[in-house]
Formats: sequence, structure tokens, C-alpha cells
Amino acid sequence: MIALCAALLCVCTAAVGEISAHDESHRMAERVHGEPWAERTGSRETHALITMYDLYCEDCGQVIQENVRREETQQPHDWRVTWEEPTCTEPGRGVRVCAVCGEEDVIETPAVGHCYMWMDVRLPNGEVESQYVCTVCGDVAQTRGQSSAQVNYNSTITSFGPMTRELIGGGVWNRVTPLNLEDEGVFTYPLIAGDQYTVGTATVINEKGKQVISYKLNTKNITVHTETLVIYPSLEALRTGENAVAVEFNQPLEIEKFFGDDKLVLIAITLKADFDPRDAGVQSFREDKALIHSLSALID
Ligand SMILES: [Zn+2]
Ligand SMILES: [Zn+2]
Ligand SMILES: [Zn+2]
Repeated sequence: MIALCAALLCVCTAAVGEISAHDESHRMAERVHGEPWAERTGSRETHALITMYDLYCEDCGQVIQENVRREETQQPHDWRVTWEEPTCTEPGRGVRVCAVCGEEDVIETPAVGHCYMWMDVRLPNGEVESQYVCTVCGDVAQTRGQSSAQVNYNSTITSFGPMTRELIGGGVWNRVTPLNLEDEGVFTYPLIAGDQYTVGTATVINEKGKQVISYKLNTKNITVHTETLVIYPSLEALRTGENAVAVEFNQPLEIEKFFGDDKLVLIAITLKADFDPRDAGVQSFREDKALIHSLSALID
């Protein structure tokens, strides 16, 4: 700035010749325009603080440069946060706004999950029942009479879908998962034990004419004795067992090659396993009505 001022020296002295003490150079001063203000930088950490001023000479009053902008970066935001706390099942959401520059940021925190404990609860009829209760929200995941066994032995586990007894009659609750081979995508369904508990997830990948079927259990403390995976091309096949094809989990399949033009197939995942319903990851099963409706519509 001094160099600039010296260059303008002749202008200064010509304009205000009577100030003799002024021969060397101007004496620079700033005339600030109002208060500094903050501008967003798009950074989560900082905003910029902007000052505008004119440079003038304190001695002769000449304005050397107008509207000079000074930017002080690295000013930390002054966040003001409003929170919606996470619950057992819903994520928390915070919106923070910088009180200085108005920068906005949305923070999500995952749902905290239930915190279950077994508690003895006296029922209105006077009996005492053990309930697996969330101590935060009161959700009851499971109940058991005090004398009932704790481990479910050799329980049948199937993937989600319509019950076979609703499709072909009979008394078995086992479910089958319909798949339209023309619907490409990755589909996940609950794995249901004894029509009572959700113990894992079945995944059906159907892409480019190939299928991979797999499952994952939500708890380590489960012993699977047998696992079978059978594809049925029709309800008739489900009823009679004819034309059914047993296949492997986790292997690329070309189901269409088994059945010719048949686009709709029924996937039957059946596991036999021992597990403890009180294990973390095991949840009480509630049928998703919308999902069962859309899956049943595939068969109709
Ligand atoms: Zn001057
Ligand atoms: Zn800010
Ligand atoms: Zn809860």
C-alpha cells in the first residue's frame, strides 16, 4: 500500500499543496464501511469475515483506493443446534445453523435400538409372566410363562411370503417367497422361525437372467442343523413336489432354464435350527401386511 501511495504522491501534493509535511508519502488510514459481516464459504468448519473500507491519506484526505475488501478466513462457525433425539426405532436428526453466517448442516444419528430386559410382570388375571421389555419405550418383544422352555429346538425357519396352507391348503404354516423372474433387483425378506420370531434376512438377487439366493442370521447363538432351498415352478409343483428343483445357496442360478417359459417361481428356504428367543437380534415377528399383499398378488 505504501508503494501505491508513493506513486500517487504528485497528485496529492498538487491537490493540497499547502500541506508541506507531506512530501515523503501519504499516511494511510482506513475508513471502514459499517460493521464487518460474515459470508458462507461452504465449509463445515469456518466462514469468512469481510470488512470493506476505503484507503485514504490521514494528512491530505485524498482517497487512494475505494472499496477495498479484506477477508479474514478461519472464523469458526457459531453453531446453534436444534435436535430431534433418536428413539429406539427412529433416527435422530439435528439441524445446525451458524448464527453468524447462516451456514446450515443436517446431522443424522442412528436409532439407538431397543434395550430389552427380562422382567416379571403381574398380569390382570394375577399370573406372573416374564416379558422381554424395552426399558426405554416399553416395547414387549417376547413373553414366556415362567416354566416354559427357553431354547426353541429344531425350529422351522422359512423366508417371508404367503403361507403354503393359504396357497395349497394343509396345516403347515411354512412360507414361500414368490419371485417374478422379470422383476430384476435385490429383494430382502425376513427369515421367520416358527411363525413367531424374525431371526435373519433372506436375500434374492435377480439380475441379468441370473439369481443368487442367500440368507443371514441376526444372532450368532443359533445352531442350524439343515438348510434346504427348493424352487417350485407352480402351485401344482408345491402341492405335489413334482418338477421342484433343489438348488444351492450363494450360487449363481439360471432358474429359467429349469422351467422353460415360466416367469413366476416360488422360492422355499427351509432351515431347521435351535435358538434362544431371548438372544439379541431375535425379534418377535409381525407380518407386514403390505408386503404379503404385494407378494400374494404375484401369484394371483
Ligand atoms: Zn496525502
Ligand atoms: Zn458461520
Ligand atoms: Zn425401545
